[in-house]
Amino acid sequence: MQKLTASLIIKNASQLVTMHDPKKIGPKTGREMNDLNIFKNGAVAVNGGRIVAVGETKDVMKKVELAKRVRLVDAGGKVVTPGLIDPHTHPVFAGQRSAEFEMRIAGKSYMEIAKAGGGINSTVESVRKANRKTLKENGRKILDRMLSFGTTTVEAKSGYGLTTKDEIKQLQAIKELNEEHKIDLVPTFLGAHEIPPEYKKNPDEYVSLICAEMIPKVVAKNLAVFCDVFCEKGVFTPRQTRIILQTAQAFGLKLKLHADEFHNTGGAELAAEFGAVSADHLISVGDEGIHLMHKEGVIPVLLPGTTFFLGLNMDAPARKMIEKGLPVALATDLNPGSSMTESMQMIMTLACLKYKMTPAEVLTASTINAAFAVSGGDKIGSLAPGKQADLVIWDAEDYREIPYHFGGNLVESVYKKGQKVR
Ligand SMILES: [Zn+2]
Repeated sequence: MQKLTASLIIKNASQLVTMHDPKKIGPKTGREMNDLNIFKNGAVAVNGGRIVAVGETKDVMKKVELAKRVRLVDAGGKVVTPGLIDPHTHPVFAGQRSAEFEMRIAGKSYMEIAKAGGGINSTVESVRKANRKTLKENGRKILDRMLSFGTTTVEAKSGYGLTTKDEIKQLQAIKELNEEHKIDLVPTFLGAHEIPPEYKKNPDEYVSLICAEMIPKVVAKNLAVFCDVFCEKGVFTPRQTRIILQTAQAFGLKLKLHADEFHNTGGAELAAEFGAVSADHLISVGDEGIHLMHKEGVIPVLLPGTTFFLGLNMDAPARKMIEKGLPVALATDLNPGSSMTESMQMIMTLACLKYKMTPAEVLTASTINAAFAVSGGDKIGSLAPGKQADLVIWDAEDYREIPYHFGGNLVESVYKKGQKVR
């Protein structure tokens, strides 16, 4: 048998968590979410940035031939997992809102905060004033922190410019960060994040601007893979959402939706109707929405950091979704207003506590299922031959320590495309 060449081998992992079931194509659903496909005393062999073999250390060592400049890493009885994937973030913005955080704690209302210059419009104002370089520098700091917490791929949305020029400026910053940073970014156009103040009296005109000008320009410049809409009471109605989704789809963008966050507006149903890749938030989703998402293969991306950070006692029905066979994914929703965290580890802890998901389920939701939520399931999210060598060595013997040890950082090192990046 011809041996496989390896330029990097990570061996003697207490648990090599592969997430890879050779019989399964697609995200993990139902009971499969607890099946992490672990090799004890495991090893992973890599060549040219791709995985060539996984298995027990003794088996992998038999299968491979060492390249001249091979790097042998002894995981020393620690856990190795795929790199974490964060499939819903707003990481490129300007200004910060810690004063608003303080007002919120003191019980000030949304309107009082808006009057004092807070809220999403304060971020929109700061982004419009900022140049691309500032947006990039701010984004880079956030990505650095994400990488330090073990995240290797991030979905990144625009949505704080809300003019054609400023949305493109945000997306261009995301594109350049993707070229320069170790983390891979998946760009999403979210011009429909909020009705900008100048269109409050005639929101339909803003919808027309999105469809007639923003989407064509974003697509012509190749600046986005996905289009997303915030479908919610007081933001975009289902009718307006439908118009935007139709246009985005006609221009070849894949779809995501901020759906049924605070009210059941039929967002999940719309996501199913349009064959969206994911529907996100879903705190108020109904049974019909869950049923249709299941039927059409829409991935629910749940964001427990948001309600935690807003101090709300509202949680998405994660257990129900898992029982109905939906492939639940998790994300930080990193943004300056409602979820200021870069840590998927924190999100995993919150999902265990708030949603009663098991440690195995939250790890599945943050790797392989999150990979499918950014349409990257064929390349990332699990440790299997042919896949990109994005992985994390944890300062832990058992994967359950990752959500158990909360609020800190158990990452020992991070590998991206076979290179040690942390
Ligand atoms: Zn969001």
